[in-house]
Amino acid sequence: MEKAYSYRFYPTPEQESLLRRTLGCVRWVYNKALHERTQAWYESQCRIGYSQTSSMLTAWKKEEELDFLNEVSCVPLQQGLRHLQTAFSNFWAGRTKYPNFKKKHQGGSAEFSKSAFKYRNGQIYLAKCKEALDIRWSRPIPEGCEPSTVTVRLHPSRRWHISIRFDDPTIKPLPVTDKAIGIDLGINSLVATSNGDKISNPKHLKKHHQKLRRAHKNLSRKEKGSKNREKARRKVARIHAQITDTRKDHLHKLTTQLVRENQTIVVEDLAVKNRVKNRRLAQGISDASWSEITRQLAYKCRWYGRTYIEIDRWFPSSKRCSNCGHIVQKMPLNIREWECPECRTRHDRDINASKNILAAGLAVSVCGASVRPEQSKSVKATAMKQKPKS
Ligand SMILES: [Zn+2]
Repeated sequence: MEKAYSYRFYPTPEQESLLRRTLGCVRWVYNKALHERTQAWYESQCRIGYSQTSSMLTAWKKEEELDFLNEVSCVPLQQGLRHLQTAFSNFWAGRTKYPNFKKKHQGGSAEFSKSAFKYRNGQIYLAKCKEALDIRWSRPIPEGCEPSTVTVRLHPSRRWHISIRFDDPTIKPLPVTDKAIGIDLGINSLVATSNGDKISNPKHLKKHHQKLRRAHKNLSRKEKGSKNREKARRKVARIHAQITDTRKDHLHKLTTQLVRENQTIVVEDLAVKNRVKNRRLAQGISDASWSEITRQLAYKCRWYGRTYIEIDRWFPSSKRCSNCGHIVQKMPLNIREWECPECRTRHDRDINASKNILAAGLAVSVCGASVRPEQSKSVKATAMKQKPKS
């Protein structure tokens, strides 16, 4: 099973200069290829794929004024083109927006596959670097594991991180259980489960967010291009990093527990969910946490031999009574509790939704049945009306 550990590292001035140039070239190649692909589409409606951009890269490297591309390892440049290909595949499949240009202030990353780095005596040597990277090994790479890919990242706060991917043979499937759980990802409570539990965002996140707002305000008052502005920008980036770390830590505990206790985990597809939800309510916190939760659940289920199901079609999880199947016409977002007019069961909105999600997911896993209930006509009609105008 593939695993990745992330560490902070401190480059020597020489390494830093090389890595900055590498990130610059990765960004340049990515943006140039994106530009070419966009142009080709507008001018002749033709789709350029990875292999064409790869031969373009070979041609660019021969141009005199683009000679700087030869100063860095070619592998991250190629990997960048692969990432662009993935971004396009996701776009064509309707999962994401059109790929964006990469900007310098975002920092950036460079991926080194096996041919572009060495792992020797527990040290990482990147291509074209003489010295090993000064990595703070917060936890060891398990004995006998060979890194397959390393990714170097420069955070906007100017911190360097390295993520090391390796195959870990020690990950084994957990003992089988017969428990299954449905999960509703929400805003009021981050997670509501069909077991009746509700889990919220960690409390200190709120404090971080207040700090972030103050730092943003401070940044906006600084003169463009000034030293103080740069300082304020880094402060904002640092708080962002803190928020991400805190959130990830919290979510890791949550998803590990869910995967340990259950054989089958069902969630709603986020693309569908985001379309239905009222965008104004969906704060950045929930957005980022939702995708992180589903990402962690998906790979941990793969690791531990669990079944992970995403309901990929629109399903009236909030409007359906999980007890009798009655579907109410309207369920405004401010209603947190309701009583079913048919069977008189009292429901907590999110817990009820998670029970429906579980039922729909089990239907799919057992017989491959359609997730859409019988009253599909009326469901469709309400779904149409609900679509936000964007
Ligand atoms: Zn009912």
